[in-house]
Amino acid sequence: MNSALINEIQRFSFDKTNVRGERVLLSSAYQEIIKRKVYPLGLEKLLGEFVAAIALLRDIIKIDGVLSIQAKGNGYLSALMAECDEKHNLRGIAQWDEAQEVPDIISLKEVLAGGYLVITITPRNGQRYQGIVEIVGESLSECLEQYFQQSEQLPSRVWLAANGAQCAGLFLQRLPAEQAQEGDEDAWARLTHLASTVKDEELLGLDTLELLHRLYHEEEVRLYDTNPMQFGCSCSRQRTLEAVISIGTDEVRQLLIEQGSIKVDCQFCAEKYEFTEADLVDLLGDQAQTH
Ligand SMILES: [Zn+2]
Repeated sequence: MNSALINEIQRFSFDKTNVRGERVLLSSAYQEIIKRKVYPLGLEKLLGEFVAAIALLRDIIKIDGVLSIQAKGNGYLSALMAECDEKHNLRGIAQWDEAQEVPDIISLKEVLAGGYLVITITPRNGQRYQGIVEIVGESLSECLEQYFQQSEQLPSRVWLAANGAQCAGLFLQRLPAEQAQEGDEDAWARLTHLASTVKDEELLGLDTLELLHRLYHEEEVRLYDTNPMQFGCSCSRQRTLEAVISIGTDEVRQLLIEQGSIKVDCQFCAEKYEFTEADLVDLLGDQAQTH
């Protein structure tokens, strides 16, 4: 299949081992995210890695709800986040100091200058959970490996790539020994070594069957169903209205007096929302009518 048309994630495992994996490849789902702004190439690539990462996380941490990964730091990058819900809708955004020259290859450590990552799990029902991940090494892959080590206590390896047209990720994890089949103790070392030979061009340019064949033609790979993924924004008129209300009644009233209405553009999807006094009358009560 033409890899430039693929937007999906696929789970796989290796027979007679305790190693499982995931592979995600995104084309238009990623392009929809980066076309919302004019990003420098370096940021298109870094945002693509975040999008591929959240897609992988989404299939590993299976919750009914929203999962997000966000970078926080003191460098010129003021915001970087990607999000995925249970329907495999993806969205993401980056904000940076536009006066700053952004290199084509960004070191996460450098750009976040002492920052960290926040992984947030927001179930539809139940408590929100946030995990903080220190920036280790230069790349997002290394940070994620650290996260899995901390949160699941399972050895995991992650490879990510993005080029402004596609983003992709490969994930391997060694499951606890009791789930292991007998007789293949070298499997983890062998399978991760083979994966580490993967080139960015292969990760981005080959469909999952071709990629796994290229890396693992001597292994027995078992493929599970694929899940399609797409760009999708969770904003709505109601949620935007709630955000407007949260700034406070005095501020809302002031904005209405100054501007006649309150206009809000969604930063993820560019949807435009406008609220007039009539929309806000419940919040403002009778006083809204009196100016
Ligand atoms: Zn939106």
